[in-house]
Amino acid sequence: LAVAGVRGLKPYQPGKPIDELARELGLNEADIVKLASNENPLGPSPAIIDAIQQQLVELTRYPDGAGFELKAALCERLGVSASQLTLGNGSSDILDFAVRVFVNQGDNVVVSQHAFSIYGLVTRAVGGEVIEVPARNFGHDLDAMAAAINDRTRIVFVTNPNNPTGTYSTRGELEAFLAAVPEQVLVLLDEAYFEYAEVEDYPCGLDYLSQYPNLLVARTFSKAYGLASLRVGYGVSSPVVADLMNRVRPPFNVDSFALAAATAALRDDAYLAKSIAANRQGMVQLVAAFEQLGLSYIPSVANFVTFKLPDGSDDREVNQQLLQLGVIIRPVANYDMPGYIRVSVGTAAENQTFIDALAKVLA
Ligand code: PMP
Repeated sequence: LAVAGVRGLKPYQPGKPIDELARELGLNEADIVKLASNENPLGPSPAIIDAIQQQLVELTRYPDGAGFELKAALCERLGVSASQLTLGNGSSDILDFAVRVFVNQGDNVVVSQHAFSIYGLVTRAVGGEVIEVPARNFGHDLDAMAAAINDRTRIVFVTNPNNPTGTYSTRGELEAFLAAVPEQVLVLLDEAYFEYAEVEDYPCGLDYLSQYPNLLVARTFSKAYGLASLRVGYGVSSPVVADLMNRVRPPFNVDSFALAAATAALRDDAYLAKSIAANRQGMVQLVAAFEQLGLSYIPSVANFVTFKLPDGSDDREVNQQLLQLGVIIRPVANYDMPGYIRVSVGTAAENQTFIDALAKVLA
C-alpha cells in the first residue's frame, strides 16, 4: 500500500523509556538512570514551569500559528529577522520540511557515516537516495562530502557537533566546505548540540547566513534548554529558504506550552549557564572513569560521549546487562559503530551509577 520510499523503512528507535524498564525490573522509576537520549539531566527551571502554567487557561484555544512571541525572542537573541525563521515540532520537523521542500524522487542527499539516522529516514520516505561519505577520525570528512555532491544532490547534512560521535568541524573546515558547495545545493547545518561546544575554533553557523543563501541552520530546545518533552526547534536561513520551509509546515505545529516555554527558556540565561557548566563537569567525570577502566573514547564537545568496549565485548550484550542494573544507554551499532556505546552526560550521581554499573558488567 505504501509509496516505494516508505516500504523499506524501519521506524526510528528511540532510547528505552524509563517507565518501561522500571515495569520490567519491578523497580521505581526513580531507581532507573537513563543516559540514552542526550537529554538535559537538571530538570526544568522554575521559570519554565511558570510559563507553562500560565498557558493552561488557554487550553481550548489554538496556539499562535505564527509563533510571534517566540520568533521575536529568537530575533532578539540571535540577531536575525523573523522572515529567516521556521519553527518546528522539535528540530526533527526542520529536517523533515527541508527534505520535503528540496528532495524529489531520484534526487539524493549527502550525509556522513556515523550521522543522525533521521536524515536518511526522511529522505528515503520521499523516494530520495542517500550518499554516505566515510567518516574521518569518526568526524565529518567535509572535503569528501563536498566532492560527493553530484547533479542530483539537493541537500548536504552537516551535524556540528555530530551525534553520536561528539566530534566537530572547525571554523576553517566549515568555511572551506561552504565555499565548495554549489549554490543550488542546500547545506543543512544541524546544530542540535551547539550550546555545549566550548572549543575556540568551533564555528557558529549563523555567522555564514548572510554569505550563503543556501545555508539552513537547525537548532533545538531539546538539549541545553531542557525542553525535550515539549518538542520545539527552529531553522534559521535566508528568507527565501524560510518561506519555502513555511509552505510545508503544518498549521499549529508547535503547541502553546512549547511556544511559551521556549520563549521563557531563551530569557533564562542562568539555567542555560548551569546546564553547560554541569555538562562540562559531568564530561570530566565520565572521561576520568573511562581512563581508569582502560577504555578508549572519542573526545566529545557535546553532552554525550561515545566509548569503545574492550575487544571481544558485544555492545548489545553489555547494553542488556546495564539494563538489568537499571541503566539505559545507547549502543551505537545502528550508527555503523559496533562495539561502541554512547552515554549522555547526566548528573554527578547518575554518572556515578552508570560508571559503577559499567565497571561491574566489564569485570
Ligand atoms: N539532530 C540531532 C543531531 C539530534 O541528535 C537530535 C535529537 N536526538 C535531533 C536533531 C532532533 O532533536 P529534536 O527533534 O528533539 O529537536
